[in-house]
Amino acid sequence: MLRELVDLQPYNTLALHARAAVFCEPVSQEELLAALSLARSRQLPVLPLGEGSNIVLTRDYPGLVLRLRDNRIQLLREQTGTVLVRVGAGLNWHQWVQQSLDNGWYGLENLALIPGTVGASPVQNIGAYGVEVAQFIDSVQGVYLDSGEAFDLDNKACRFAYRDSLFKQALAHKTVITSVVFRLSTVPAVHASYAALRDYLAEHHADEPLTPTLVMEAVCAVRRSRLPDPHLLPNVGSFFKNPQVSPEQFVALQQQYPAIPHYPGEQGRVKLAAAWLIDQCGWKGRCLGPACVHEHQALVLVNRHGASGEEMLALADAIAADVLARFAVRLEPEPWIW
Ligand SMILES: Cc1cc2nc3c(=O)[nH]c(=O)nc-3n(C[C@H](O)[C@H](O)[C@H](O)COP(=O)(O)OP(=O)(O)OC[C@H]3O[C@@H](n4cnc5c(N)ncnc54)[C@H](O)[C@@H]3O)c2cc1C
Repeated sequence: MLRELVDLQPYNTLALHARAAVFCEPVSQEELLAALSLARSRQLPVLPLGEGSNIVLTRDYPGLVLRLRDNRIQLLREQTGTVLVRVGAGLNWHQWVQQSLDNGWYGLENLALIPGTVGASPVQNIGAYGVEVAQFIDSVQGVYLDSGEAFDLDNKACRFAYRDSLFKQALAHKTVITSVVFRLSTVPAVHASYAALRDYLAEHHADEPLTPTLVMEAVCAVRRSRLPDPHLLPNVGSFFKNPQVSPEQFVALQQQYPAIPHYPGEQGRVKLAAAWLIDQCGWKGRCLGPACVHEHQALVLVNRHGASGEEMLALADAIAADVLARFAVRLEPEPWIW
């Protein structure tokens, strides 16, 4: 069950080499608790890992890396118009989106093809094409790493925000999520107002009725045309969050850069497009050593030539420094950096 000194390169989508002192893929709650108890007795830190699509490994991990394998889907309750479904943390996210649609449980279509696992989805409140997973999460179950005690947190307690949650703040690296309960609709409803999606549907499916299946197909088509497949070109998707600035700072920026893209942010702030800021600094398609910026997506850093985690970070730091110097806007990495 436990393996020692395991290279994590096959387990992260940037294909970075880093060894886990101990590695375990528990298939049951009993195996998970046994692994946690062993980590406690050996005083090892614990890192839950999903598919490694939002993590940058810059060095070996001196503790226990846990990859949960539970991929069960369990219908808990069906009421008029909604279902509550518990899903094991180890299930691949896209497989869950596909299966929910196959069962006539609607809501997750816009989140199709996001890499990763169900267990990681609440951590950064994954979002795409105008939808965030928090809209469909009823509760999150798991275990505290230090005590092995179970928890069950409702949606409000998870403090979801833009690419953020309690699991990235007060509970960061303190829990392992074992399952997520989703509240989905049995009545078809679509969210197709996001510009890229709306444009694609207007161009390719103008005469067809909008259904959840059509929206999911459109999301997949748009994503495939825009984002490099990490199996072919290692990456972690967006490397930076879209920064949010005060209305005053935005007005000053807009005076200088009238074309600056902007969206409503949280708590009255204005969200800027990190990709545009990076592109303006001339980084699109450029490399720093073996680490590169994708030629079509300035927000996506790619490991084109066998870069190390530190080389990927050196590129990210150089980009962030240029954006800060030119726009006085601080870029924050989206993936977790180890
Ligand atoms: C090509 C590409 C496109 C992407 N597009 C999007 C997008 O559109 N929207 C978006 O939001 N994200 C996107 N991402 C980022 C990524 O897919 C998500 O963040 C995803 O949820 C990560 O899942 P994972 O299983 O790979 O997590 P990992 O990368 O393995 O882990 C990420 C973090 O979550 C923690 N974690 C993982 N599993 C658990 C668990 N069971 N319990 C507790 N903590 C855990 C880890 O410790 C780590 O801190 C993209 C990534 C790629 C490569």
